Amino acid sequence: MIIARDIHKHFGGFRAVDGASIEIEEGSITGLIGPNGAGKSTLFNVIAGVLPPTSGSVTMAGEDITGLPPHALFHKGLLRTFQIAHEFSSMTVRENLMMVPGGQSGEGLWNAWFRRGAVAAQERALAQKADEVLAFLTIDHLAEEKAGNLSGGQKKLLELGRTMMVDARVVFLDEVGAGVNRTLLNTIGDAILRLNKERGYTFCLIEHDMDFIARLCDPVIVMAEGKVLAQGSATEIMQNEAVIEAYLGT
Ligand code: ADP
Ligand code: MG
Repeated sequence: MIIARDIHKHFGGFRAVDGASIEIEEGSITGLIGPNGAGKSTLFNVIAGVLPPTSGSVTMAGEDITGLPPHALFHKGLLRTFQIAHEFSSMTVRENLMMVPGGQSGEGLWNAWFRRGAVAAQERALAQKADEVLAFLTIDHLAEEKAGNLSGGQKKLLELGRTMMVDARVVFLDEVGAGVNRTLLNTIGDAILRLNKERGYTFCLIEHDMDFIARLCDPVIVMAEGKVLAQGSATEIMQNEAVIEAYLGT
């Protein structure tokens, strides 16, 4: 699904990503782990179009997507979750989800101008879709809650929910479980597994919690110092000498 080849991302003279290549198989939940500062988020940002690479290429289903901006990738179904921005914290959870598809297409504008009835129907369809997403994530009781009032874990579920408002194919999650309690972490894990199995989502996720990684991810890719150090099943990775050394070295 995604092939990133020999990616370099330098900040001045500093090589945050220093020749990393990864492949994300269609239908997989691929884990990306590594010590702090390994370059994981930077590599994600390059693949997701947030940062242009210094060099290297990214393809999606065989098509060159190197350097395409996030909105272009969004239309191809490549999504990266973002934290709920401040502006949206006073909107309800349902409204936050309804914002996602945007309705910015020419057709949408046409409807807005000439066919207000159709717009109302679109709004109802969006609201219904949002409620389905909330039920899937088991947070339907929070539909009317202001996003700003959610707990950290509930916000993470809402971030995941936003990827479900469109036809996502591959979703990048950067530390979606950070600071989340065990119960909500399990709920997030369940949602990821169901999206993978029932909706065919491909995932690539950065995570520190090895239990979470081991439960969800195969393969697991390990980065250190801007390079890929190892790849394999969670069990293989945890027994890999170079990996253990890289973690102990920090
Ligand atoms: P990870 O996600 O694996 O913890 P990052 O990709 O966030 O690592 O960062 C890798 C390295 O690149 C770190 O040393 C970080 O300080 C540096 N870095 C990240 N972004 C920038 C930036 N915009 N400018 C300069 N250095 C950066
Ligand atoms: Mg990071």
